[in-house]
Amino acid sequence: MDVRTIGVIGAGQMGHGIAHVLALADYDVLMTDISPSALDQAMTQIEANMGRQLRREIITRGDMEAALRRIRTTHKLADLGPCDLIIESATERESVKRAIFEDLQPHLGPGTILTSNTSSISITRLASGTDRPERFIGFHFMNPAPVMRLVELVRGIATDESTFETCRRVVERLGKTAAPAEDFPGFIVNRILMPMINEAVYTLYEGVGDVLSIDKSMRLGANHPMGPLELADFIGLDTCLAIMNVLHDGLADTKYRPCPLLVKYVEAGWLGRKTGRGFYDYRGDAPVPTR
Ligand code: NAD
Repeated sequence: MDVRTIGVIGAGQMGHGIAHVLALADYDVLMTDISPSALDQAMTQIEANMGRQLRREIITRGDMEAALRRIRTTHKLADLGPCDLIIESATERESVKRAIFEDLQPHLGPGTILTSNTSSISITRLASGTDRPERFIGFHFMNPAPVMRLVELVRGIATDESTFETCRRVVERLGKTAAPAEDFPGFIVNRILMPMINEAVYTLYEGVGDVLSIDKSMRLGANHPMGPLELADFIGLDTCLAIMNVLHDGLADTKYRPCPLLVKYVEAGWLGRKTGRGFYDYRGDAPVPTR
């Protein structure tokens, strides 16, 4: 199937990054969001992020101007009807995503492929609520989408081969690499990454090391570009906790038990960079460890 126009639902931190990479790869993009201000904010952010790529000579002014012209926005979900492929990247709540697909369905042509950028909700379950489970697949970008080179393509139990192949070609045209994954909790990246972050929080909780020694150990001792606690703050501690809960519930194994200290930070509203405080305090000039 030849994909030309791609709809993006949800213009938050992931949605605008996805629209950005699609437009630079010559796709026509139609982006929508339920919040009146989100679309304007997303376009401002995309322009700023492309501006940074221009200054670093990753893209040319011509690339940037053409890409910005290819992104259109709408507040009406129905306008996405003619799209060849749709990437849903709205709030991580199953009821929200199910309602979106239900509202969208009557406006779609029979061949449109539906995808979700969900980090933790079952693709098979989301697909089963639509009229096209065979043309439904997980299209999981990493954060930030314009920088990270991997997309997990998550097959639901009913996903057919041509849907997978079409999406794999789209990922290639974005200059990224697709990792095929089956639909089990956390897919591949989060299944491995989140227990490591959770273990780093246990290491802190049990006093084996403090924030700085844990991050330094993994940066210098395991050659990770960021320490696990620094990375947790970047992802958002609420997101980390939500994914650990999905692993714990979905795989029913105590090895995925979220660390009580992670729960405590989330209860405090110390969610990482986005709230100014997590394992580090970001409110001053330089991050200061909170433990
Ligand atoms: P976000 O909160 O930044 O953005 C979500 C957007 O969805 C908001 O702008 C909100 O207004 C919009 N929205 C909510 N309900 C909607 C509806 N009914 N119709 C249209 N828009 C609606 O969240 P995010 O971090 O961009 O996450 C979006 C998706 O991406 C989630 O499924 C998440 O699991 C996934 N994801 C997140 C990350 C990450 O690191 N943040 C990484 C990979 C995937």
